[in-house]
Amino acid sequence: MPNQLGQSGLRATERRKAVLAVIEHAKKPLTADEIHAEAVKTEKMGLSTTYRVLSQLTSHALLMKNEGGDGRCYYQLNTPQGHRHTLHCTACGAVVPIEGCPLAALENRLRAETGFLITGHSLTFTGLCPACQQRGSC
Ligand SMILES: [Zn+2]
Ligand SMILES: [Zn+2]
Repeated sequence: MPNQLGQSGLRATERRKAVLAVIEHAKKPLTADEIHAEAVKTEKMGLSTTYRVLSQLTSHALLMKNEGGDGRCYYQLNTPQGHRHTLHCTACGAVVPIEGCPLAALENRLRAETGFLITGHSLTFTGLCPACQQRGSC
């Protein structure tokens, strides 16, 4: 991960490394608050610092920031292997990661066709989880 920091042109500060490590080890996309709660266990910093680090990492394309179905922003690594797309239950707020990214081939094609340097994308499915379907909607 410090490698990725080097390539991005951002200095590998302890805070940036701590924030990235939290996201790297997460099983699902995390909100800024969740990331902060974990990151302070390795590196003391205020919530505003965590937010600043997250926005730096996002603007340098190391992280993807997507709005979830619940209106909150979720962060994850911006790599084909590292990022995950998710299913959001609109009733209970459950967030379920799905395996793999179906967009890598499309990204390659778009890059070739448009010349864009694509640094991220977002894809979120919303719906009802099995438990909420059982509960019935009426
Ligand atoms: Zn649900
Ligand atoms: Zn993807």
